Amino acid sequence: MAKPAETRTAGRKPVAKATRSAAETEKIRAALAARRDELRAEYDQTLSEITELQRDRLTDSAGDDQADTGTKTLEREQEISLANSIRERITQVERALERLDEGGYGWCERCGDPIPVERLAAFPSATLCVKCKQLEERR
Ligand SMILES: [Zn+2]
Repeated sequence: MAKPAETRTAGRKPVAKATRSAAETEKIRAALAARRDELRAEYDQTLSEITELQRDRLTDSAGDDQADTGTKTLEREQEISLANSIRERITQVERALERLDEGGYGWCERCGDPIPVERLAAFPSATLCVKCKQLEERR
């Protein structure tokens, strides 16, 4: 006799009182993967903008006055910090995907309810359901 499949994935997370269906898990996985791809495209785009700004600075900075150079430096710094924050978000989504595989992702840390798929797709790093998040913010 084969054992039921769920014994394999039975988590160490007692906080989860509800269960999520496999279909729902797949939906979250798809949403996270789509988000990751989106972020990666955004990241690549930002990197190429940085390269371009860098090239501009090296090639036609001869005729620039100091204000121009300053603006370009600032622009580049902004692009770099944007790239860093996108990379941070990509890491969050990747961690979320790993935790999803382990069954420890997508549950509210406060009440143990499943966090809605839509919310996870919009905020992959969400650890609270909307209700608990609102309570938290009201404090
Ligand atoms: Zn909650």
